[in-house]
Amino acid sequence: MTLDPKKLAKFASIERGPRDFINIDPLQTGGKLTPEAQKAIVEWGDGYSVCDFCPGCLDKMKQPPVSEFVHEVLPEFLGVDGARITNGAREAKFAVMHSIASEGDSVVMDGLAHYSSIVAAQRARLNIESVGHSGNPDYYIDPEGYGQAIEKVTSETGKVPALALLTYPDGNYGNLPDAKKIASICHEYDVPLLLNCAYSAGRMPIDAKAIGADFVSVSGHKSMAASGPIGIVGVNGDYVDTVFRKSPTHKIKEIEFLGCTARGATLMTLMASFPAVVERTQRWDEEVANARWFSEKLEGMGLIQVGQKPHNHDLMFFEAPIFYEISQKVKKGRYFLYKELKARQIHGIKAGLTKYFKLSTYGVGKEDLSFVVDSFEEIIDKYNK
Ligand SMILES: *Cc1c(COP(=O)(O)O)cnc(C)c1O
Repeated sequence: MTLDPKKLAKFASIERGPRDFINIDPLQTGGKLTPEAQKAIVEWGDGYSVCDFCPGCLDKMKQPPVSEFVHEVLPEFLGVDGARITNGAREAKFAVMHSIASEGDSVVMDGLAHYSSIVAAQRARLNIESVGHSGNPDYYIDPEGYGQAIEKVTSETGKVPALALLTYPDGNYGNLPDAKKIASICHEYDVPLLLNCAYSAGRMPIDAKAIGADFVSVSGHKSMAASGPIGIVGVNGDYVDTVFRKSPTHKIKEIEFLGCTARGATLMTLMASFPAVVERTQRWDEEVANARWFSEKLEGMGLIQVGQKPHNHDLMFFEAPIFYEISQKVKKGRYFLYKELKARQIHGIKAGLTKYFKLSTYGVGKEDLSFVVDSFEEIIDKYNK
């Protein structure tokens, strides 16, 4: 072994940098830990810390109360018959695809689907049929597109698709398509629908049954104030038996989850934040109002919010020709915006982006959002003198 301890020392003290910035990074706004979760991560940080009283499978654990959380609380929260903890939204999607479909089957998904939906389908050896959207500026998904895609797959392969997937909302424009309509169209063809709620469950109320979704995938680190990786899969109806089927040899172990998923601090942060998460989803109207207000302010400066308008979600995509023009003429080029925002302790727009970028207003609050708006204005004035 030739690993030099001196070289290794740096791993023992990695600092993250300032965390007191205003954060508008869509990946991060919904995943900031509550004080309760911060405590939990220290308390439960040791490996296998939750397993002291494990009866052999995670969801049956009484202490800590994982069983109550998984079997009573989460199904009610999501409107599903059964739920399980996964290591992320992608693992939830893969578990559904892998359990209900067979190699060579097709999955129909919206053209705005996250890459992880596509990779999950590939890992499950499924063919993907994409449902188009209207493109710029609305990126609207016509529910009828699902019917057309299902018919196309059926006529080309002689078999109805095993699954349809809808991204709710999509991770670029924050559009919330008509999920109820899409669910009902899919059901006309007996195709079950997986609603990918990575950006919604934990921010806004989600009721899979009311929507008609057969499955939901949830991301704890994206939208439930949890330290990842952690997620949830929700399942309705008879699909419960398929997705949660048990090993013939290890009778209490569920195959799709390799017997066990999150077994430590990540799960405990999800649980510790949960009361606050339930409370915040009930204040979703405020968040939408803040997002709309913010969008109007930026549009007043010449930026263009693309996607649904008025917007229905905190994740928003802006075109910013005014920043692009500045980037063409200043010394720091395309990094000027990042640097100006950093100087004002605002984090979240990717370094080097000016022409267009996405951001999230979730949980930022009106006061800090006003500061961001004022900062944008200041930056424009500064360079347009
Ligand atoms: C972030 C994101 C995911 C991935 O979530 P993980 O929990 O990290 O797997 C999936 N879908 C969408 C739409 C996302 O935005």
